[in-house]
Amino acid sequence: MVMKVAITYHEDFGKYGFSVLRDRIRPSYEALMKTGIVDGVDVQVFKAAPAPLKLVEAAHTEAHMQNMLHDPYREVAILSAGSVMMASEMVAKGEAKSAFAFTGTAGHHASRGSCWGFCYFNDVAITISRLREMGLERFLIIDVDPHFGDGTRDFFKDDPNVFHINFHSGSGEQYDPANNNYDIGLGFGADNERFLTALKNSLELAKDFDFQIAFVIFGHDSHQDDYGGFDLTFDAYPRMAQIIKQAVGEKGLVFVLSGGSSIHVGEQAIPDVIRVLAGRWPN
Ligand SMILES: [Zn+2]
Repeated sequence: MVMKVAITYHEDFGKYGFSVLRDRIRPSYEALMKTGIVDGVDVQVFKAAPAPLKLVEAAHTEAHMQNMLHDPYREVAILSAGSVMMASEMVAKGEAKSAFAFTGTAGHHASRGSCWGFCYFNDVAITISRLREMGLERFLIIDVDPHFGDGTRDFFKDDPNVFHINFHSGSGEQYDPANNNYDIGLGFGADNERFLTALKNSLELAKDFDFQIAFVIFGHDSHQDDYGGFDLTFDAYPRMAQIIKQAVGEKGLVFVLSGGSSIHVGEQAIPDVIRVLAGRWPN
């Protein structure tokens, strides 16, 4: 039987994750458990394991690997990439329709040869390399974290088999149809309607792109009580998840936790998204 949502989690994310990101992890996980939707059948939790080092090394330059060698967040970053990989493999194998990967560090500011902004290794790029080993080829990335996903762009800027939709708090729109890169600057203070309208438009633009798995780089730092510069309220997250779920249809869907510091935001936004994936929204 195919489960509806596979959730990958590790308690180390809340203990050893990046300082800004980690405090929300355990409360969000506990809030998810209190919803009662994790039933061990339709919705199951799996303990994340580290990503294979050879895949991390293959994605990044030798110089970057050397720079990271003694970084205090190295281990939890490899575990975060492993969480995304484990979640995605279950979706790729058809064991789960969708997945939600908890992380302790983010990934979208990690380029091949450098990183910044709470990111160390590019969890989604490393995962795509693994999925390509399994024979999958084409991927949609929807980065709704309000910070520009420059690391992910570094990996896929010349790869038309990865459609990168990239929301950010800067200004202007840029579309590169030859390489399937689309940047949408919503400006500071973007509200629910501006964000959700732009999300629908971007998915419409990508509707003819054939892909096997969609990744959502999910930063709840877009909430008005968090640090990302957008002005979203709680209502935005389940609506966002509904819009994306509908657009993805029968294909695979993986949410990857990204930015966000606020405990009360994580406690609500994360379970709400998972409820939608489970078909248990609003109750
Ligand atoms: Zn962010």
